[in-house]
Amino acid sequence: MCTPKDIIKQYDIKPRKKLGQSFLLDQNIIKKIATAARITQEDIVVEIGAGIGVLTKSLAQKSRKLIAVELDKNLVEVLKEKLAGFDNVDIHSGDILKFDINSISSIYNGKIKVIGNVPYNISSPLIFRLLTFRSVIADFTLMLQKEVVQRLVAVPDNKSYGVPSVLLQMFASMEKLFDVPAGCFHPQPKVESAVLRGTFLNKPLMELLNETFFTRLVKAAFAQRRKMLINNLKNAKFLEGFSETGLNEALAQSGIDGKRRGETLSVEEFGKLSNVLWLDINSEKNKTRS
Ligand code: SAH
Repeated sequence: MCTPKDIIKQYDIKPRKKLGQSFLLDQNIIKKIATAARITQEDIVVEIGAGIGVLTKSLAQKSRKLIAVELDKNLVEVLKEKLAGFDNVDIHSGDILKFDINSISSIYNGKIKVIGNVPYNISSPLIFRLLTFRSVIADFTLMLQKEVVQRLVAVPDNKSYGVPSVLLQMFASMEKLFDVPAGCFHPQPKVESAVLRGTFLNKPLMELLNETFFTRLVKAAFAQRRKMLINNLKNAKFLEGFSETGLNEALAQSGIDGKRRGETLSVEEFGKLSNVLWLDINSEKNKTRS
């Protein structure tokens, strides 16, 4: 009694849609993800949404310590039973969006590997939360909706390239590993799935003078995708201290033609423009003007 189907039957588990529950059934895919995560006996692993523990077991066998986070209290009980034989596993009952990865890193004195077949309804806040913990995360290997993976790995001039691509790629290298057919899950998701690996860089692609400002700039540049960059910047509230000439000067100084669309800018170009504008805002010239 240990295939995923058997566990679902044994515990009479009724998957809860609201919690994004879609369990992996395919043993080959489970193995493939566990291998893709490149875990060694030195590693501290946090698994997101451990569910009925099918991936958890493979991860536990490979790692030094595994913390499995699961929100559904019923499944926490299943996990406790299924993983009772492992002394390197902790089951944490709670929300991954509130879970403090920093504290895990301090307790075990190392960088964390994050893995999971995650609930798709929280993928965006989850990815941005991982970004905030980047100093203590080595990498993350996640099953996500295929479109989300495409967005995160997208390069300029691609229709999937947008705010998440730029914000994540400034700090991490992103790689799509493989697609996973809907038939590998129970219940079958209505969307396609793929596995993503993100590896946080030791330092950002370029040094940013102000990260919050960088984020705002990227969002502004994509506010209306089909507009020229200069027009999106003109419409951005936080840049209202700039005249059009001021914006054009900053663009020229960054080596960027304002007639381009935001979606054509590389991650480095966004960084450069953000730094130039930030310096302008903080320069004496602007201080006396305001
Ligand atoms: N990893 C398992 C289950 C994937 S389904 C498998 O591959 O079979 C997603 C899991 O995430 C479910 O078990 C669901 O209960 C859990 N979950 C949903 N929202 C969560 C949250 N905010 N924090 C932690 N776990 C969550």
